[in-house]
Amino acid sequence: MEIFNDNFCAWTNDLESRINFNKINSNFDCDWLIIGAGYTGLSCARKLAQLYPDKKIILVDAQLAGEGASSRNSGYLVDTTLNDGFSSNKELENYKKKTNIYALGIKAVQDFINIHQVNCDWNESGKYFASSILEDIKILNNFSKTLSKLNFKHTFLNKKEISSRLGTNFYNIALYTKGGILLHPGKLVRAMINSLPSNVYLFENSCLLNWSSIKDYISCDFKNGKIRTKKIIFATNGFLKSLGIKVNYNFPITLTASMTRRLTDKEFNSIGKPSEWGVLPVRPMGATVRMTKDRRILIRNTAEVHDPSKMSKETLKKRSKIQLNGIKKRFPHLPDDIIQSTWSGIVSRTRNSSQIFEKIKDNIFVAGCYNGSGIGVGTLFGEQIAIKAANENSKEIEVIEKRNKPTWLPPQPFLNFGIKSRLFYERFKARSDV
Ligand SMILES: Cc1cc2nc3c(=O)[nH]c(=O)nc-3n(C[C@H](O)[C@H](O)[C@H](O)COP(=O)(O)OP(=O)(O)OC[C@H]3O[C@@H](n4cnc5c(N)ncnc54)[C@H](O)[C@@H]3O)c2cc1C
Repeated sequence: MEIFNDNFCAWTNDLESRINFNKINSNFDCDWLIIGAGYTGLSCARKLAQLYPDKKIILVDAQLAGEGASSRNSGYLVDTTLNDGFSSNKELENYKKKTNIYALGIKAVQDFINIHQVNCDWNESGKYFASSILEDIKILNNFSKTLSKLNFKHTFLNKKEISSRLGTNFYNIALYTKGGILLHPGKLVRAMINSLPSNVYLFENSCLLNWSSIKDYISCDFKNGKIRTKKIIFATNGFLKSLGIKVNYNFPITLTASMTRRLTDKEFNSIGKPSEWGVLPVRPMGATVRMTKDRRILIRNTAEVHDPSKMSKETLKKRSKIQLNGIKKRFPHLPDDIIQSTWSGIVSRTRNSSQIFEKIKDNIFVAGCYNGSGIGVGTLFGEQIAIKAANENSKEIEVIEKRNKPTWLPPQPFLNFGIKSRLFYERFKARSDV
């Protein structure tokens, strides 16, 4: 599968264009090869380079580094989640394990930005789980019990309070959690690229086509060259399956998001000049909506089974219409041409929402599958898979290893049928909040 770069993502377009990319166009030997240069691969490369300052580490991406999901996401660095199947009381133990991992993920990002003095618009604003459906209070009450048992600070808000904080009358109920950070995902991943140590050799626009393990090395084929490596780490997240990795344990889902232009003074004043905020849906297929610190509105309200390598302009246009509807439901007075960019990105999911972090064979490692919450966990897993691959241990690895392991998925065509039916059902249940 070839993966195509596009320049549709608003977060990437906020940044200066990068120049001078190296492509794989001859043969190389190395000690370490990392495939995928998002949060996971970049963090893995950074850590490996610290552990092995004298070794050659090659990092390869099929697109420009960081321009996959790592800069296409909504920028919520989460401490808690509601829509990952872990919110019932019965699952409290699992939920605790999950939030322990989230906490380490937040710390990993925080340490990175402190050490490298990164400005990624970090805002400890907390987050809102909001719904227009009054009966969703049952889901939120249940969630609140789980949060209380684990000492996560949170409060319920009524319609009036929500409206004054967010500037929209759309939502009827919300649960606000104090934890959770909003950030600029593109700035974060760009800082990871800019701070790569000098023994990391980055190659971009170079898609791994085939790989095979031969005796004590792994051979990797690219369009215009080969790499022979002693150890390899796969950090391709939504593309793990297409490389034949853990095929019965993960599947890709395509998400689409849109960003408006900046609201004018008049538009912003009319909604009460709210501070930056982020809403997550109460139901899995509801919309994620965010007001950025520079007064743009981001919305993500589609998730689907789609060819992960590319979404055509025509299909994006259709998704953009769905997103305009979502914005107009919440802010009816905004004009029809307010959306400035629409883009898609690929995430990886498992059946039980657990992540993948393991040695799959001698000298072959994989980290990924964050079920839509990979900013912190990807940064953490990238660093820690490097430590694991170096045959070392850490307190973080002990916490990661305690998680439930991903469960088996049925083969195609049953898998896609199952996913599509589930998405259809969830979308129907959340239809008013899309
Ligand atoms: C619209 C959207 C909204 C999201 N919102 C949030 C959010 O608010 N909070 C949150 O925590 N997470 C969110 N996520 C998920 C988050 O973006 C991902 O979990 C995270 O980016 C995973 O990082 P990664 O480095 O593992 O994978 P990626 O960023 O996907 O990087 C993998 C890289 O591998 C490369 N690759 C794939 N195949 C090959 C190959 N054959 N050869 C070479 N390179 C290859 C790709 O080009 C890509 O750059 C969202 C995702 C999307 C798409």
